Amino acid sequence: MSQEFEVRLFGPGLPGAGASAKARWEFEALSLTAADQDFCAPGRALELRGAGFNNERLRVAWRDAAGEFTLFLETAAARAAFAAHAPASLKAKLGLAQSAARRTDIRFKLGWAVLGLVLLLPILLLLGFYLQADAVAGWVAERMPVEMEQKIGELTEQRIKLEFRPRTEGAAYDAVQALARRLEPPSRFKYRWHLVDRPEVNAFAAPGGVIVVFSGLLRQAQTPEEVAGVLAHEIGHVELRHSLKAAVKDLGFQALLSFALGDLASTLAGDLAAKLTELQFSRDAEAEADRYGLQRLLEASVDPRGLPTFFARLAPQEKGLALPAMLSTHPPSKERMVAMEGAIGKLPPKDYRPLELDWAAVRAAVGD
Ligand SMILES: [Zn+2]
Repeated sequence: MSQEFEVRLFGPGLPGAGASAKARWEFEALSLTAADQDFCAPGRALELRGAGFNNERLRVAWRDAAGEFTLFLETAAARAAFAAHAPASLKAKLGLAQSAARRTDIRFKLGWAVLGLVLLLPILLLLGFYLQADAVAGWVAERMPVEMEQKIGELTEQRIKLEFRPRTEGAAYDAVQALARRLEPPSRFKYRWHLVDRPEVNAFAAPGGVIVVFSGLLRQAQTPEEVAGVLAHEIGHVELRHSLKAAVKDLGFQALLSFALGDLASTLAGDLAAKLTELQFSRDAEAEADRYGLQRLLEASVDPRGLPTFFARLAPQEKGLALPAMLSTHPPSKERMVAMEGAIGKLPPKDYRPLELDWAAVRAAVGD
């Protein structure tokens, strides 16, 4: 005789709410005792199907001369005992009912998972954005197609032209374009270089290869190599997509959302131009742009010492003086300067190709 198990039995002669019954397999038949009565059902007559909210219970039904009986296997133990000694004729039906229950269970759990995710996603994104803003911005930026970044660059450039009215001729303009030709790497971006009349010592890179140089930078630099150093550093911010990442981070959730909806460019461009001059990069990004810039200068055979020299000279000699714009947007930490000078110190002696610019004419053109 097989193991006994508990079921709930409904049928003729039993209470409407069903009766608790002891069940066991006896040869090929299910034998039951409930409310002091014995019942017996041949295995081949049983119909099985999943039951309950989640199809997790098993419903067993049969019909005999007295009428229709139904029992429910409520617990996993009861289902196991029922399955263990079920006659061969019932095994196929049992397998079907169980796999239906499993499928329902998986669908059910998946349903909850999806619903949970949908409800939680905005909160997760928001949390992630505040806790890991750099990482999230980087994640978004890395997945943005270059064409989209290029489009953002074009829209931003239109705003820059409207707001800053860049120069389009003259010795200073020509010098920036000549430096650009010398320094531009082979790139997935199409570079555009603008010189604007602003007294601040600054330069910035917009996403997509738009680089803006302030006339104040040319006034402050003592050699074209110093300017080339800054420009090579800015190229680093473009190539490494720092500007895009900073823009995504700075413009926050709105940009993320627009990104998800696929119309980032139009939303972003409005805010971007105004904020570009203040885009802050992380320390890591600055160090990365320095390394990239130094490498670029070497490849272009430009003396790389201009970059650290310029930054060192810009640093205020007295505490409390306002930082030049260049230094507040690209803070020259001590580690940065040490790393740059260390890297340059390790270079073998090399004959750099001079930048053939009439620097006096350039300085005159920016009002020095
Ligand atoms: Zn920088």
